[in-house]
Amino acid sequence: MRLLDRLDRELGDGAGLVVIFDYDGTLTPIVSSPGAAFLAPSVRANLARLVESDRARLAILSGRGLADLRARVALDGVLYGGCHGLEIAGRELRFRHPRAHRSGVAATARVLAAALPLVPGALVECKGLVVSLHYRHVAPSRRGAVREIAEQVLSRRPDLALIGGHLVFDFMPRVGWHKGTAARWMVSRLVRTLPARRAVIVYAGDDASDEMAFAALRGRALTIHVGAKPTVAEYRVSGVRDVQALLRRMASAMAS
Ligand SMILES: [Mg+2]
Repeated sequence: MRLLDRLDRELGDGAGLVVIFDYDGTLTPIVSSPGAAFLAPSVRANLARLVESDRARLAILSGRGLADLRARVALDGVLYGGCHGLEIAGRELRFRHPRAHRSGVAATARVLAAALPLVPGALVECKGLVVSLHYRHVAPSRRGAVREIAEQVLSRRPDLALIGGHLVFDFMPRVGWHKGTAARWMVSRLVRTLPARRAVIVYAGDDASDEMAFAALRGRALTIHVGAKPTVAEYRVSGVRDVQALLRRMASAMAS
């Protein structure tokens, strides 16, 4: 069944809605610098409509740091998950993984920074519990060197896990926590706050890390991959414009 038809049918009889969106590549197009990924006013307006509905709950789950993510979305009443869900805050909920520490991540950030001169264009971003090695400005012929550095660093840090994203490697504490476990945590907490007995769960994301959430929510949520990569999600849309259409549809259904 087509995604929008299924949503209309499932939301039709007063069901509640829990939506989890990834941020980059899902709510905003991928841009040349991560700092330039701003939310379009129309997208923010529809997110705000969802948040205002008593029947809907909204979470945004990203590899970005929590403070950065919250500043970019800038809406109250949203549950935010930063650093792939190692830190979650909003709607009077708060979570920080008890075994995720900054020390190994900070040491890795220093090692990566020391290796940077070897690959012009590479950029290290420390997000607290995650350190990212961005390589979107590295010449394609040099990207193999970036991977080598990432793998070399990782081989000396059994306490860290490596997550490959869109032209970025994220190093995070290896504590068995990722977007899948974080999404399940979010769903269970948010569903409890809904007045409706039945809740429709929706998760949309574009990257490899979102695949963990698609798998974790299988059978429980409408999972939507944004883009053309192989996916375990149930549905696929081609880009951010389709996500906006979906968002508009959900916001309208929740307002009626
Ligand atoms: Mg993304």
